[in-house]
Amino acid sequence: MAKVRALTDIKGIGPKLAEQLQKLNIYAVADVLFHLPFRYEDRSRVVPMGGLMPMQPAVVQGSVVGCSVVMGKRRSLLVKLQDHSGTLSLRFYHFSAAQKHQFRTGQQVRCYGEPRRGVSGLELYHPEYQLLADGEEPELEPCLTPIYPATDGITQQRLRLLHEQVLQHLRADEVDLADLLPRDWLAQWRLPSLKEALLFLHQPPRTESVEQLTNGQHPAQQRLILEELLAHQLSLHRLRAQIQADQAPALLPSHTLAQALLAQLPFTPTAAQQRVVAEIEADLAQPFPMLRLVQGDVGSGKTLVAALAASRVLEAGYQVALMAPTEILAEQHLHNMRQWFEPLSISVGWLVGKLKGKARQQALTDIASGQMQLVVGTHALFQEGVDFAKLGLIIIDEQHRFGVHQRLALREKGRLQGLSPHQLVMTATPIPRTLAMSAYADLDTSVIDELPPGRSPITTVVIPDQRRDEIVQRVASACAEGAQAYWVCTLIDESETLQCQAAELTAESLQQTLPHVRVGLVHGRMKATEKAEVMASFKAHELDLLVATTVIEVGVDVPNASLMIIENPERLGLAQLHQLRGRVGRGAAKSHCVLLYKAPLSHMGRQRLQVLRESQDGFYIAEQDLQIRGPGEMLGTRQTGLQMLRVADLMRDGALLPQVRYMAQQIWVQHPQQVEPLIARWLGDAERFANV
Ligand code: ADP
Ligand code: MG
Repeated sequence: MAKVRALTDIKGIGPKLAEQLQKLNIYAVADVLFHLPFRYEDRSRVVPMGGLMPMQPAVVQGSVVGCSVVMGKRRSLLVKLQDHSGTLSLRFYHFSAAQKHQFRTGQQVRCYGEPRRGVSGLELYHPEYQLLADGEEPELEPCLTPIYPATDGITQQRLRLLHEQVLQHLRADEVDLADLLPRDWLAQWRLPSLKEALLFLHQPPRTESVEQLTNGQHPAQQRLILEELLAHQLSLHRLRAQIQADQAPALLPSHTLAQALLAQLPFTPTAAQQRVVAEIEADLAQPFPMLRLVQGDVGSGKTLVAALAASRVLEAGYQVALMAPTEILAEQHLHNMRQWFEPLSISVGWLVGKLKGKARQQALTDIASGQMQLVVGTHALFQEGVDFAKLGLIIIDEQHRFGVHQRLALREKGRLQGLSPHQLVMTATPIPRTLAMSAYADLDTSVIDELPPGRSPITTVVIPDQRRDEIVQRVASACAEGAQAYWVCTLIDESETLQCQAAELTAESLQQTLPHVRVGLVHGRMKATEKAEVMASFKAHELDLLVATTVIEVGVDVPNASLMIIENPERLGLAQLHQLRGRVGRGAAKSHCVLLYKAPLSHMGRQRLQVLRESQDGFYIAEQDLQIRGPGEMLGTRQTGLQMLRVADLMRDGALLPQVRYMAQQIWVQHPQQVEPLIARWLGDAERFANV
């Protein structure tokens, strides 16, 4: 039988509408079916007024018993309706005289809206309504009404019509649509077929409850949720397979360099650091690229783990690239690595955007010749024109998740000799388990679940900005006693320029109030050399107080700093605040963090800051942050693809992930021909999007 494929095969759809539909990611008939309702309305029955519940939209019908214009804060038209079970008011803030005259006493009205509690009992604000002639009973909807994501120029009405047409073709098996899940899964997991699921979701029978559909629990929804999560999981499997199809240098165990490195340190690695290093070494011994993620709370000592991993690779004669998210952090890594490796005759250098002219040329030459063995840098490391002689390991100290495309680009570096580098990713933000399972499914994971000994806990207090003067005095006395402090200015909603200005003003005014305190300033619009100078003098204790924007967020390490003030903490995410706070509590001195919020604070705002007061466990805080803000925000991820989930919701559906993992394994091994179609169906748009 002939199948309908192109949109223009559908009656009433011309090239113009077909083009408009592309805005909704609808390119072909099958895409219409995957353009799913984001909510439903129940217009299938009339609810007696006595049975209405606040916030639960419903169809009601009754006769007018009163109609008047009331004054109040805003003038409004109030229409009183009655049925056999009770009364209800309709309220219109915008209305015409003609409208007012429609509502004559005794007039039958049917309307649809969401009841809210108002002065006159339950009220519907600006409901949709229909005036009925005597005895008229218009038909109700036969099923729940789907509400679709719409766009300019395409109304709900138009979309619903389109869907009805396509569903008819689907019922007649005229749509080119394959069920991509293995047949025996349907019985095994009690899932409906794709066709059944789609028919249900576009036109749920009126016996279904709208509320339950919102929870995503219906088997028809579960079927699509599983399929979507499966497709995401498979795309990460595929990425992993693509990378691991390459060869990498298999590095035999040898610990001379690592031992020499450790011998210089005033401390020994924690058990957790040792375990993670051992996991990395096992990977490095394989003849294909390591893909490993090291998670560790702030201060857990990821830098040392990176250095120990690097030493194995350097010792074998390969280069190592260490990439940081910002120039400040790159500079700090450079400093650390030089201190650790130069005494061992390893040459350490760097490449960042600000490196220009001769210095840059020299760096590029040294990287290309292999003269520079350990190369620290920012994204600049992976730009065109940077060629490594013999790259064995890439370490990414990341702030946010690296995109899939970026990871594939990394693989290209160092493939000259037919060998791909090993990849080690370190996250400063602890990732909750459910998210880690999906966002990082392409990586093996190690966790540094222990902090180095001798850390003192940080006491966190939440204080309104009316008490700012008091806090300023506290900074003064802490500095007088030889401690150092951070003062962090945040203004995340505003432009970076405003944020930097705010920091400048704060630094000036603090210096005026506290003439004996040596105040420094660092923000994102300063030249990198200026920033580095300020950071160096703070580290050398030539400054007592460092006023900063959130540029100090990750990795800055000054153990003598034991006090941090964060202005407007309510504007930042919890994980970010936790990162910031991790700048103190690095020495033996008792540390404090003051969250100086702008009063008044909402209940939710208070609750969030409370989490920080109560806990110093990055994973717990991250879980809370995830609950409050959702996954996309938290990972800071345009790139994860996860924010583009269409039917699944990681918070709601997290419990399905173990099943999804299992399913992905099964497909990968037993039904490999389904991998590409599944990815194309669910991530096709993402890929189209990424290629724009
Ligand atoms: P992060 O995991 O946040 O990147 P860092 O690597 O910056 O943490 O380490 C924080 C501090 O702890 C640094 O000053 C580092 O030298 C120190 N450190 C790392 N490992 C240990 C250890 N095993 N014992 C004591 N101090 C350590
Ligand atoms: Mg770090």
